[in-house]
Amino acid sequence: MRLKCIKLAGFKSFVDPTTVHFPSNLSAVVGPNGCGKSNTIDAVRWVMGESSAKNLRGDSMTDVIFNGSSGRKPVGQASIELVFDNSAGKLTGPYAGFSEVSVKRRVTRDGQNNYFLNGDKCRRRDVTDLFLGTGLGPRSYAIIEQGMISKLIEAKPEELRVYIEEAAGISKYKERRRDTENR
Ligand code: ATP
Ligand code: MG
Repeated sequence: MRLKCIKLAGFKSFVDPTTVHFPSNLSAVVGPNGCGKSNTIDAVRWVMGESSAKNLRGDSMTDVIFNGSSGRKPVGQASIELVFDNSAGKLTGPYAGFSEVSVKRRVTRDGQNNYFLNGDKCRRRDVTDLFLGTGLGPRSYAIIEQGMISKLIEAKPEELRVYIEEAAGISKYKERRRDTENR
């Protein structure tokens, strides 16, 4: 499954609606310091359900909303949409038959937080379920950031196991079992 584009609006430094296209399997994002490169990665993690503000380099969850600059007033909401190419049919589950799958998240200053799959409102759970076992997800190994390699090298065996279980595709089943046991 390939990420085709990211649509950002009101998210961190991307106040105006912006679409970033990834036309091939290998894309590089380059630009001067502070231009928003890391913000686009934060955006990807955020849509996939990241619930820790710290992992998005902020203090609270509404910190992702554009909070104003010298020439612009703050805005009231942030939204990000990821569009995936599923023409190879890699996705299983309810979206298996779609050649394109869009995942969107929107948050408002008054604390509303919504997720959408192909435009339909859904739960955070539906989004995380969709990606479990694919290697994608808010804290998956699909995003390798600064410091992550040394974190992996220094990880305790039980921490390493989480990555191996995700790569082997069994995290999905463990999650379902946990869910059933908690009911
Ligand atoms: P570097 O090359 O230094 O890593 P970068 O391209 O990764 O830079 P980012 O960290 O993506 O840069 O962007 C930082 C910019 O985003 C800063 O100018 C910061 O003020 C701005 N920014 C972050 N959060 C918000 C927000 N909520 N509202 C407005 N601007 C924001
Ligand atoms: Mg950066």
